[in-house]
Amino acid sequence: MFHRILIANRGEIAVRVIRTCRELEVETVAVYSTADADALHVKLATEAVCIGPAKAADSYLNMSALLTAALETGCDAIHPGYGFLSENPEFADLCRQCGLKFIGPSGDVIRQMGNKAAARALMRSHGVPVVPGSEGPVSGPEEAAEIAEKIGYPVLLKASSGGGGRGMRRVDAPEDLPGLYAAAQAEAVACFGDGELYVEKLILHPRHIEFQILADSQGNVVHLGERDCSIQRKNQKLIEESPSRALSDDLRRAMGEAAVKAAKAAGYQSAGTVEFVLAHDGSFYFIEMNTRIQVEHPVTEFVTGLDLIREQIRIAAGLPLSVRQEDIRQDGCAMECRINAEDPREGFRPAPGRVDFLHLPGGPGVRVDTALFNGCELSPWYDSLAAKVVVHAPTRLETLRKMRRALEELIIEGFPTTADLCHLILYQPDFIKGRYDTGFLEQHMEELLQWDCEGMK
Ligand code: ADP
Repeated sequence: MFHRILIANRGEIAVRVIRTCRELEVETVAVYSTADADALHVKLATEAVCIGPAKAADSYLNMSALLTAALETGCDAIHPGYGFLSENPEFADLCRQCGLKFIGPSGDVIRQMGNKAAARALMRSHGVPVVPGSEGPVSGPEEAAEIAEKIGYPVLLKASSGGGGRGMRRVDAPEDLPGLYAAAQAEAVACFGDGELYVEKLILHPRHIEFQILADSQGNVVHLGERDCSIQRKNQKLIEESPSRALSDDLRRAMGEAAVKAAKAAGYQSAGTVEFVLAHDGSFYFIEMNTRIQVEHPVTEFVTGLDLIREQIRIAAGLPLSVRQEDIRQDGCAMECRINAEDPREGFRPAPGRVDFLHLPGGPGVRVDTALFNGCELSPWYDSLAAKVVVHAPTRLETLRKMRRALEELIIEGFPTTADLCHLILYQPDFIKGRYDTGFLEQHMEELLQWDCEGMK
């Protein structure tokens, strides 16, 4: 086992990793930018090192500062969390070259899965179903139009290096394609420095279903069931739950097997997520693989009883998985609400600020992952995730009720959040029945905000 792990991240995920390290009796080194000098992860780690100014490019994305900090403080491994450098193959390679274990898959695997067009091609060649579309990247708008004609409109143009819903455009008609192609490409260049695009058929009203997988260095690969992440705003997740109401046992088995096949095709090691879209007729298609821990991992931790950070660390240390597929159970239901410092009434505009008063929910089956505390400043420099409220109960109805009361207990004074919107969603009849798809929020946003105005809480 490792002696000391540097956590190349901040916020709730840095705190989350520190918790498991303490339980494993592994020391931790926190890193922080000058904007984060008073942050919670800094207080909780064994040791903390300032790695630069507020701007992420100069601190949390500064590879040499991170590697120097790790070496100077005697670390033997680095946990990247999510975001920042977690899916940067060069950083994974550099860690190895410096004699530090990167807690995640190899640089080569990250590289291959990070190019979504290449990942698609690999999956297809291994018999994992992918959305109908281009074989790989397209050469330009003419080829995209040819493919769109063949598979039929509407289609999605997607950036090979895309993420966070950026570099993606829906095209409904041939005459719109050239303009939307240029827009998607420009956004992809601006966000990812890579304008390569590929084409997928747009699956109408799909559900976003992802499978958590674990793979060790001995070649064992298991899946831990699914998370339904269909409640999204602007292609970004807001509420996640497991199990999904959309899966029969047979479908769950088939998708779980496809996820394991995908991980094996990639030569994967560590915790990872295989994302699918599920169509109304029960057909499902691989869309991408995330080669890191996900924000929504606590949902899976609740239903399986496993600590995914612990599994990641064990795998990186060369230990075998602590479970076999036949021992994994999905026990009860779990749900997560993301509490972002955003104003849903203003297009989810980020609205960071000072926490004037904080009260977090508790009680049986309630977990809150956050780095907030009374009087702290939610920094405008980084992402707007303020807290994750996660609940677990034997049935979905009890889970819903528990989440309602957890959100009623939550008090964050100082800035607007998505908590009220999440609370309203929990009363929406289709959501209660589990009948929703990725279009749910867009479709119901106006109605939900109307309820809010009428004081329905
Ligand atoms: P990103 O990496 O930018 O998050 P993804 O490929 O994971 O992009 O897609 C983000 C979301 O867009 C998915 O969760 C899903 O809701 C939607 N989506 C992606 N591909 C398709 C598709 N082919 N048809 C319909 N919806 C899709």
